[in-house]
Amino acid sequence: MLFGPGGFAIFIVAMVLGLATQSFVNSAYRRNSARPLPGGLAGSDVARRFLDSEGLANVAIEITPGSLTDHYDPRANVLRLSRDVYYGNNVAAAGVAAHEAGHAVQHARGFAAAKARMALVPAANLGSQAGPVLVMLGLIFGYGGQFSELLINAGIVLFAGAVLFQLVTLPVEFDASRRGLAALTTTGSVVPGDEAGARQVLTAAALTYVASALISVLYLLQFIGIGRRD
Ligand SMILES: [Zn+2]
Repeated sequence: MLFGPGGFAIFIVAMVLGLATQSFVNSAYRRNSARPLPGGLAGSDVARRFLDSEGLANVAIEITPGSLTDHYDPRANVLRLSRDVYYGNNVAAAGVAAHEAGHAVQHARGFAAAKARMALVPAANLGSQAGPVLVMLGLIFGYGGQFSELLINAGIVLFAGAVLFQLVTLPVEFDASRRGLAALTTTGSVVPGDEAGARQVLTAAALTYVASALISVLYLLQFIGIGRRD
């Protein structure tokens, strides 16, 4: 998405923020991977305890391939944890497992922001791809013309749907972490004092969502700027 100097500047900011948040996540994860959980608990046990304490024994926990691929699938009502998290007897794995289980709890409780986020998935998929393409076509067809303006405006509206999705994702992620961290304490899944380590991991992960939401807002503003130029 390179649209002139403004677009290039956003691209650079996105790269720097992406690298910074990624290294923050990696270092938080590495540091807390060295802290074991009490009683030989693994990430999957942590998630199981949390889900059972919420009356969600019906939510299955499975292993999914890859690294940091952990997610809750609301359609299948299954929690999928990567091998490292599933078997991980450490605070970082506990944090991730509890966060993902937090999404399952949100689903079961009908958490409004999570529902809104789900409803926005198709708009986000369409808008993130078609939006910039329409803006670019509008630019190719020249400024000032009605057709060009129509394409740019349509691109902006579509892209705004994708931005809205990213913004709604933030409260959903923060809430899942809040629920997960509280559960680590109430279910006795971490040694007292180790919640802080789990919080570091989840805060770092949340920052990656904040960074990508910020970048998409900047792109949207830039598209709006393009649309307003005479
Ligand atoms: Zn999440």
